[in-house]
Amino acid sequence: MDQRFLSYGRQSIDESDVEAVVRALHSDALTCGREVDLFEEDFARRAGAKYAISFANATGALHCAMLAAGIGKGDRVLTSPLTFLSSANCAAFVGATPDFVDVDPQTRLFSADSLKNRLTRDVKAVVPVDLAGQSCDMPAIAKIARKHGAFIIEDACHATGGFLFDEGKTYPIGGHPWADMTVFSFHPVKTMTCGEGGMITTNDERLANRARLFRGHGIVRQIDDCVGLGTNDPAFMEKGAWYYEMQELGYNYRLTDIQCALGRSQLGKLSRFIDRRREIVARYNAGLIGISCLAIPQCALPARPESTSWHLYEVQIDFDQLGKTRSQVMNELKERGIGSQVLYIPVHLQPWYRRMYGYGQGKCPIAEAIYPQLLSLPLWPDLTDKEVDYVIANLIDILT
Ligand SMILES: *Cc1c(COP(=O)(O)O)cnc(C)c1O
Repeated sequence: MDQRFLSYGRQSIDESDVEAVVRALHSDALTCGREVDLFEEDFARRAGAKYAISFANATGALHCAMLAAGIGKGDRVLTSPLTFLSSANCAAFVGATPDFVDVDPQTRLFSADSLKNRLTRDVKAVVPVDLAGQSCDMPAIAKIARKHGAFIIEDACHATGGFLFDEGKTYPIGGHPWADMTVFSFHPVKTMTCGEGGMITTNDERLANRARLFRGHGIVRQIDDCVGLGTNDPAFMEKGAWYYEMQELGYNYRLTDIQCALGRSQLGKLSRFIDRRREIVARYNAGLIGISCLAIPQCALPARPESTSWHLYEVQIDFDQLGKTRSQVMNELKERGIGSQVLYIPVHLQPWYRRMYGYGQGKCPIAEAIYPQLLSLPLWPDLTDKEVDYVIANLIDILT
């Protein structure tokens, strides 16, 4: 069979994306221009949030979310062990201690239940992760975290364009009232792409301004927000439009106009991308249900299959029962032109985390028991039904 290799995730780019990027390249500003403002405005509108601040990547966005919230030395930040490294690393970037709350065994999500007895006095922020695109139980998490006075920074890198469902109403991720800031990624495997890119959405003006400040070197240019360089400093007294001052130790995490043009073009297709992802997930579920050593993804409220953006299609396979290792299955799939991936190795088991914080086996027993069974199968909007059926047929052949 003459077919393309089916990686576990990939971008979907068409001629209109190419044209948008070329237009940006011909414009006056390649960075700090109009495309950045327009992308942020469009994204905020789509997420139902007051503010959206773009970043070079979501890792930088998470870093600045921590800084905006004032998280630092002596503080503890709780996140999920089943996530990409950045959800936890951002706490370490600012000198805080990243720590982990075990996941729900059914949904594999950061769980409100296990959060309850982990709220020591030093916990200043929680970072729930919407794994695979499914919303965490944000209303329940917010209730517990807010009572404790902790910031809620939702890592929605998997959930761009998704929704959650609560008491008969549907809320967009990034705009609902149960997070102080929400972070998105536009890496090519995510639901829409800028090549690289990230975004913070928030309804809090102060947090928005702080995040923007840390994105751009901590520089302030509005003269009303400036404090001056010293007593009766002439440069400041002139109030020239050229004047700027550095009020915080910031970074350069800007997203270019070229990338924002691509992002804006992709945003216009996001609903179509997600509809297609849902179709593919439904097709996989129908095709893979009833295989004894395999469990299909479970969706639980406030996530619903039809309101989830489905970044990943992740199954659980009992490799012991099967009598094959995960690597064997992955290699057999690869020989048939099918990519797969393990998402994720529990963060607290990583060598740096063991060394720095003394974490290890036994810290998050549920995540540790689930991790050896995880396998992500190809999921991206341009997959054809025929290709999905090919993956299903070959996986069944390998597993039975
Ligand atoms: C991709 C991802 C990130 C980091 O995103 P980048 O844009 O690559 O920096 C953070 N958290 C999660 C859950 C992710 O999947």
